[in-house]
Amino acid sequence: MQVEKGFTDNWLQPTGTQERLMRQYAGCKRFVSNRALSIEQARYRRGEKKLGSAQMMRELTMWRNNPDPHSSFLKDVPVLALQCVLWELYDSYQRFFKGEQIHPPQFKRKSKAKVGFTESDPASFEIDESNKRVRLPKLGWVKRRFTQHIEGKPNSVTVKWNGARWILSVQCKVEIADSKHPSNTIVAGDFGVVRRVTFSDGVVVPPIDVPWEENRKAFYQRTLKNKTKFSSNWKKVQQKIRKLDSRIANIRKDKTHKFTSTYCKSHAVIVLGDLNIKSLSASAAGTTEKPGKKVKQKSRLNHAILRQGWGELGRLLEYKQLWAGGIVEYQSEAYSSQDCPKCSYRSPLNRNSQDMFECVSPDCGFKANSDDVAAANQLRKFLSSNKGVALLASGYRASVNSLWSGQSRDSASKQEPIEEAAQCA
Ligand SMILES: [Zn+2]
Repeated sequence: MQVEKGFTDNWLQPTGTQERLMRQYAGCKRFVSNRALSIEQARYRRGEKKLGSAQMMRELTMWRNNPDPHSSFLKDVPVLALQCVLWELYDSYQRFFKGEQIHPPQFKRKSKAKVGFTESDPASFEIDESNKRVRLPKLGWVKRRFTQHIEGKPNSVTVKWNGARWILSVQCKVEIADSKHPSNTIVAGDFGVVRRVTFSDGVVVPPIDVPWEENRKAFYQRTLKNKTKFSSNWKKVQQKIRKLDSRIANIRKDKTHKFTSTYCKSHAVIVLGDLNIKSLSASAAGTTEKPGKKVKQKSRLNHAILRQGWGELGRLLEYKQLWAGGIVEYQSEAYSSQDCPKCSYRSPLNRNSQDMFECVSPDCGFKANSDDVAAANQLRKFLSSNKGVALLASGYRASVNSLWSGQSRDSASKQEPIEEAAQCA
């Protein structure tokens, strides 16, 4: 089986000149994107048809070859990097027309634009691992730290500035052997805020907290408001905040990778809740005529939801399972925290506090941790679906933890005030 594999953990050590050039490329990319967008917008206002990517590519060649001083500097930038921008622009239009994206493409601001460029022609770059360098178009050989061995045939390279370093990511086509997953168990997980994920086999993934980094960041953000905007001291603080951001992201990424790598070895089928994180974490602010309720609490909850990185965890499990020969399934999480696993009585009152599940059916009185119950319910739901029945028939078995002791295994006792409300959204 051939798969696309990305190697994203190598960084570049460009010389001063190279770094200036790389930033210049990023500026030119922004210029091309904004110019193409303004042409399309003007055509739209005049009621004309869209120019389209092929015609815009020809326009780009003209801008590059024209002696006009307003665009001739584009000549110094690798053409593929600029063509990539146009692909992205028209891709954004496509997604907007299909309804996958709310806004049409927007103009890129210097302060917001991502610094980086992509080379998608394998002939234009060369990776020299033994001499620790990589050849990029118009830049020459750039020194590089190899922290990751690159396998397979490279398809494209992307260079980007992550706030602290220049990162080189390489997309490769890798041949992997078709493998059969060593285990034959099915497990279901339930996403939460206090516990990141609770699995039905009893494994609890705690949230990734970075209190030191977040306190530091908050401190710098406070000092920022006493400084003149865009002064050199303001820029220094901004730089520190960006470094912390990249550090926080690295910690989260590292922990998620470590967990998913070990966990996907133990189960052949992993069932996860199908969450629409965008609608879960939508703001409760409302409008001025109709202000929302509990805006502050919801915003805190949204922060917690986004911090959990549920989507990223699912994505990593998905591709690691694919390589190991297992699968990841998604199913809706509806009612998973309301059904009693003992007498299957369904009521929103069953979950009266954040972490306790207490059945309100008069002759049941079942008690357990609510996240454990939700995970068990998710597993039961999957096993009764068509796919689950088929898997059970072909020799797979469910992995269940005996949770009927009613004891919680971790001491997380933080409150999540309106999680229920968010789950219904
Ligand atoms: Zn019950």
